[in-house]
Amino acid sequence: MSNQLSDRINSVTPSATLEMAAKARELRASGKDIIGLSLGEPDFKVPDYIREAAIQAVNDGYNSYTPVDGYVDLKKAIMTKFKRDNDLSYEPSQIVVSTGAKQALYNVAQVCLNKGDEVILPCPYWVSYSDIVKLADGVPIEVSTSIDTDFKMTPEQLEAAITPKTKMLWYSSPCNPSGSIYSKDELRALADVLQKHPQIIVVSDEIYEHINYGVTGHASMAAFEDMYDRTVTVNGVAKAFAMTGWRIGFIGAPAYIARACNKLQGQVTSGANCIAQRAVITALEESPERVQYMVDEFKERRKLILGLLNEIEGFKCNEPQGAFYVFPDISAYFGKTLNGTTINNASDFAMYLLENANVATVTGDAFGNPKGIRISYAASKEEIIEAINRIKSAL
Ligand code: PMP
Ligand code: GLU
Repeated sequence: MSNQLSDRINSVTPSATLEMAAKARELRASGKDIIGLSLGEPDFKVPDYIREAAIQAVNDGYNSYTPVDGYVDLKKAIMTKFKRDNDLSYEPSQIVVSTGAKQALYNVAQVCLNKGDEVILPCPYWVSYSDIVKLADGVPIEVSTSIDTDFKMTPEQLEAAITPKTKMLWYSSPCNPSGSIYSKDELRALADVLQKHPQIIVVSDEIYEHINYGVTGHASMAAFEDMYDRTVTVNGVAKAFAMTGWRIGFIGAPAYIARACNKLQGQVTSGANCIAQRAVITALEESPERVQYMVDEFKERRKLILGLLNEIEGFKCNEPQGAFYVFPDISAYFGKTLNGTTINNASDFAMYLLENANVATVTGDAFGNPKGIRISYAASKEEIIEAINRIKSAL
């Protein structure tokens, strides 16, 4: 039978992070000793007090469908979290709980974009942004940044990218994959540009908020009074609480956008998992200080990996201020032949590392930056040392 799939799905690129992780798993299953530094997944256990809350929820008999936009008391915990950590006041009608921040982002794209609407994505951006936008018939407009500006978009670049068709701006801060953080002043400067373009909605993805190494404090776009009514704040528990598989993310948004996400979700997945939602109430109600030990450990690993990478010729690294990735510029290798393999681009380079060093990373192309690769340091120190040593000898 010929391919009967829709043009929509045929035009989607598979998630490069998940694809690389699957490839690493496959190679491992076939007996290869692969070190996986491709997936952004904390290697910690979910903290005891959160696991206990989940067990309690099972024993308390939580098993029914949940409200589409989340349990009332979870929404309350999210509102308290937004106020406590971000000085953001939301009403319950402005909160929607979803199956991961990924679904939250997908919902927002689906309810805000019409065919041909442009979405500005400062590069490098998180891998799924461009395909989520395309799935909503939107047009991703990539704004290139480089290591020389710490991978941050300037107000001038934003201004230059705006057209009459611009509908949204999406960014993550701390950024996956660069680890860069927009300071409050930098966000203000972007907001000043947006003042002249009141039709533009901002998606501020703050899922790495707590994984911050303390130089640039966390700032939320919606905390500016003049941006509050047109900013969607996205967050979740996957990263700071090591709960990637529990699949809970959420938004704080203008009520009309939240209502629309609720309507869409009600036709797609219904409410998110009941046990995970109960556990997330505990995760958010407790102080973020309780998970600081993970951030401290990531900070040590960051120092370790930067030290090791900087010893390798041809790697140019910025110092990530948050998240748990380094995004070295490896374009010095382009055009070189290593062990008979010619490296033409970042994808060739990542593939070379997989095949010759048995280390899985992700090509920068997937993040809209063709000069880099992403290396996750959400791995043990031993793995990091071994992986970078292997990379060094393979090069
Ligand atoms: N945004 C960013 C920047 C991410 O790195 C991720 C990775 N998981 C997500 C959103 C999606 O998070 P979740 O696992 O909650 O769907
Ligand atoms: N967000 C993580 C990453 O960037 C998890 C994988 C994914 O959802 O793409 O690696």
